[in-house]
Parts: sequence; C-alpha cells; structure tokens
Amino acid sequence: MNKPKIIAIDFDGTLAENAWPDIGAPIQSVINALKAEQAAGCKTILWTNRCGEELAAAVTWCRLHDIHLDAVNVNLPEMIEFFGGDTRKIFANEYWDDRARLMPEKVCRIRWEDHNPYMDNANDCWEPYCEECDTELPDDCSYCPGCGARVITKAEEDHRERVEEGQ
Ligand SMILES: [Mg+2]
Ligand SMILES: [Zn+2]
Repeated sequence: MNKPKIIAIDFDGTLAENAWPDIGAPIQSVINALKAEQAAGCKTILWTNRCGEELAAAVTWCRLHDIHLDAVNVNLPEMIEFFGGDTRKIFANEYWDDRARLMPEKVCRIRWEDHNPYMDNANDCWEPYCEECDTELPDDCSYCPGCGARVITKAEEDHRERVEEGQ
C-alpha cells in the first residue's frame, strides 16, 4: 500500500487572502484543490507562522470551512519516527504556500564510454560518465559526485524517449 501524500499548507495568502493578523476572504480554488487531495487520501498539516490566538482563529476557520487538519505546525508521528526525532522542518511531499518558488530539480543523463576500444568483441568496458560535468560515476549512484545532479534512471530515460518519439 502506498503511503499517503502529505501536504503542508500555509494559511495567510494561501487558504485565505492575506489580512494577518485578521483573516481574509477564503481562496476557494485552493480550498477545493485541497479537498480533492484529501478525498484522494492525502494528509494535511497546517504550516503557518501564526501562534496563540491568531493560530487558534485559523484552526477554527479551517473547521468552519470543513478543512480537515491532521496536524498543526508539527510533524506527523510517522515522520518523527522515520527521521529519528522531531525535525524543525515539517516534512511534506508538497508545500502549498503563496511565497513558494518552484526550484526545478537538476538532473543529468549518463554517457557511456567504451574504455576498451581496441579489443573488438573482447570484454567491453563501458564506464558511466555524467553528461553534465564529465565526472565518472560510481556504480549505482543516485547523484553525480561532481555536480550534484540527480542521475536519471533507466526507466525515466525510456519514458523520455517514448515522449520524444510522440508515443
Ligand atoms: Mg502566506
Ligand atoms: Zn555531474
């Protein structure tokens, strides 16, 4: 069984228009999108700088808008166990925040080089290199030690090729 997706969601400017310390108008498109994720089984953590009375007001507001919260400004118990402690960063698979900026992941392909070109059909000696920075890659590495890019898996490579071929 797959683990449920965890969404950490901001309050001001994300669930409601930013009117801190008051609460602005609900942002219905975000509320609807969150409810759709919840219907599909996701867990939700409210992840906000609000504290004290302002936080209590936001939690009540969520209840009035039928938004279920699995946690408020804390990690889920299963993630505390997974990390071996309660990390200060809340773990989530997705962060929904009006101040978020999407950072595209840096990836690289493997370039295979034959290091035994003079011995036809003898044992081929294909070695993997990072196509971005030319660093030789250790066996089964997930990240290039030279440039830090994530090494694209064979399955991803096949998928890309299929997409590029328009299938
Ligand atoms: Mg915000
Ligand atoms: Zn590299």
